[in-house]
Amino acid sequence: AASITLQDVGKTYPDGTVAVGDFSLEVRAGELTVLIGPSGCGKSTILRMINRLIEPTKGTILLDGQDILKRNPVELRRHIGYVIQNVGLFPHQKIGANIGTVPKLLGWDRARVRARADELLDLVGLDPARYRDRYPHELSGGQRQRVGVARALAADPLVLLMDEPFSAVDPIARGRLQEEFLKLQAAVRKTIVMVTHDIDEAVRLGDRIAVLAEGGRLQQYAPPAELLSR
Ligand code: ADP
Ligand code: ADP
Repeated sequence: AASITLQDVGKTYPDGTVAVGDFSLEVRAGELTVLIGPSGCGKSTILRMINRLIEPTKGTILLDGQDILKRNPVELRRHIGYVIQNVGLFPHQKIGANIGTVPKLLGWDRARVRARADELLDLVGLDPARYRDRYPHELSGGQRQRVGVARALAADPLVLLMDEPFSAVDPIARGRLQEEFLKLQAAVRKTIVMVTHDIDEAVRLGDRIAVLAEGGRLQQYAPPAELLSR
């Protein structure tokens, strides 16, 4: 697992919107940090800068001490797992192939890709024999989110970024997903940054919670127990 350091990071969109003014945060290796705050406060923008889907207008982002802005974005993304609300699985590819997307890009041979997909399905609580050859539309929303997590972990990324990963799932399935995700994190111990607007989810899953206000202003950054006792 790698640490992530954001130093004086800002993002102004081309239309002049200052999504993030001046944001600094130190995400420790192996911890799950939650970004929480009102809609539009810049949470997704921060995540998307870490995997370079968008470029910061100022500041520095370090991954294990190395400046990510000096790396090739496409290459960088292969080391960053990314899970979004409606996963975005390839509809015409089977679940196994979807999970193997990044390993295939990395040139793994077919047998290794398949074995890894099965291993990951198991890890996220889906029976490989039953699910590897299905298509995304043959799964429930919650199952698709599990596959999204499996795909993001497939090539053993340095960090995992999750943008409201469970919020499109119904409340009962969500509770179960959160519970399973806690077990998964205990097993793999990734550095994770997760965006949510659900305070219960933040408290349940976060090792540390960053509370943001408009413009990405950091209000607090502490473990859940400390936040709750204030
Ligand atoms: P959050 O994830 O906290 O809801 P976002 O990072 O999505 O917030 O958005 C932060 C601010 O930037 C909002 O005011 C939003 O409208 C604006 N924004 C997001 N994406 C763009 C874009 N591509 N162009 C212009 N403004 C944007
Ligand atoms: P290609 O562009 O060759 O299809 P990519 O490596 O760009 O393949 O990504 C394959 C799929 O995986 C895309 O749909 C993308 O959304 C998703 N993906 C995997 N990892 C990331 C990441 N770190 N950031 C954004 N998308 C990712």
